[in-house]
Amino acid sequence: MLEISQAIERLDAQPVNSARVRQPLYAPRRKIFPKRAEGRFRSFKWIVMLVTLGIYYVTPWLRWDRGPFAPDQAVLVDLANRRFYFFFVEIWPQEFWLVAGLLVMAGFGLFLVTSAVGRAWCGYTCPQTVWVDLFLVVERWCEGDRNQRIKLDAAPWTTRKLVLRTSKHAIWIAIAAATGGAWIFYFADAPTLFVELISGTAAPIAYITVAVLTATTYVFGGMMREQVCTYMCPWPRIQAAMLDEHSLTVTYNDWRGEPRSRHVKKTAAAGASIGDCVDCNACVAVCPMGIDIRDGQQLECITCALCIDACDGVMDKLGRQRGLISYMTLADYNANMARATACGTLAPDPSRVRDQDGRLRSDLAHVGWHTIVRPRTLVYLGAWSLVGLLLVYGLLSRDRLEVNVLHDRNPQFVVLSDGSIRNGYTVKLLNKIPEPRTIIATLQGLPGAEMTVVGIDQPADRSFAVQVEPDRLKTLKVYVSQPASRVAGPVQSFRFIIEDKSSFETDSYDAKFEAPRP
Ligand code: SF4
Ligand code: SF4
Repeated sequence: MLEISQAIERLDAQPVNSARVRQPLYAPRRKIFPKRAEGRFRSFKWIVMLVTLGIYYVTPWLRWDRGPFAPDQAVLVDLANRRFYFFFVEIWPQEFWLVAGLLVMAGFGLFLVTSAVGRAWCGYTCPQTVWVDLFLVVERWCEGDRNQRIKLDAAPWTTRKLVLRTSKHAIWIAIAAATGGAWIFYFADAPTLFVELISGTAAPIAYITVAVLTATTYVFGGMMREQVCTYMCPWPRIQAAMLDEHSLTVTYNDWRGEPRSRHVKKTAAAGASIGDCVDCNACVAVCPMGIDIRDGQQLECITCALCIDACDGVMDKLGRQRGLISYMTLADYNANMARATACGTLAPDPSRVRDQDGRLRSDLAHVGWHTIVRPRTLVYLGAWSLVGLLLVYGLLSRDRLEVNVLHDRNPQFVVLSDGSIRNGYTVKLLNKIPEPRTIIATLQGLPGAEMTVVGIDQPADRSFAVQVEPDRLKTLKVYVSQPASRVAGPVQSFRFIIEDKSSFETDSYDAKFEAPRP
């Protein structure tokens, strides 16, 4: 009989989450105290923040004169009247294809930007990023920069701490309330709604919406911050499918940075190879996500580029070339890494990417126009432009005057006492401009036929005039009668033609006239 150890081979397998070292699926939040960054990307982010917040808060207050019969708010989602106003464009519910087209354009735009410059949306313009940036400005203003905030957080509760914390949260709540308030101004006349809101006479749904948006802005922007990006937002996962090896991402260039050392002189004196990274952690301190970009690409990185600014500042102080952390494509990174490792045969040595005087070699792969302009981005740009052109064409050529006709189904026709045949129709006249119009409706075809209109006091005729209010749909009950002697068959085709004499706009509808079979 064999020993068990001889009969059964013991496999070298380890559970990935064994009880001894089990990690929770959700890591509890560790507080992050991002340091204020300075540099070109930070400046650009300030500009983007001011522009996006300015657009969001100011837009509902912009006025646009559409005449006395339409609202004068430049951007308005008028749910009650089912209209969307955007400056000179007015969209009716049946023109929703315009909104769908804009969404398709937004989708292609996002594909284009992501494939070209990575998660620029996340790093610069996503509302979560913009509001967290704004909340951080308030936090720094109340509590100071990173070190002071860390100290305050660890300190026991005193009057000073209570005052600072209360001020910070009060300003956050005020910003959150302004954010929620601004949102509802897009759905009603802003000045009127503002007065109603503060006088307590607005509709309950307005207060509920403001309360919900205030709470979400406060919690997401102030309390959860990076947690929203890491755990709640699907975009970091989706974008992985859109990036390729030629997409720009924020990259730590370890081919020139490693081996890192805090003791440059000592290490150099010992004759060891030394990279540009002095392990100062400035890039980690400014990161709003609390990560270390030197660990490589990470899901949490929103590519805000603040670590580039921080590291460039360090390189400037040391008199070294900027770009130890930079926007870089994976393809360029691999090419440079191959140089530093002699095509992967040796350990990375930055001296292989430097020339005699210690500067980086000029023939290293770097970002250029070819990084942005490449087949994939051109395809996205083409698709985006095509949808845009189709939308512009559709917008310029859409009808502002429309007629729709519905034939009565029951009865399809009536034989009158004089033998003539009568058909009933529901005629809908759509006046899409903010001015009243006099519309002339005329019969074309159907020899000898005449119309009478319920509610319009005029003798039967082949045409009638009707007043249609601005921006409204007018529904009419129209009866068309034809003498029996002129009936040319059980089903005859004819046309309702409508015309606005002042603007010469016309529209028509092909209808059927039904009569008994002989
Ligand atoms: S690693 Fe750099 S780019 Fe990424 S989130 Fe942090 S600071 Fe921004
Ligand atoms: S800021 Fe630059 S030098 Fe400092 S640790 Fe980060 S990568 Fe290294």
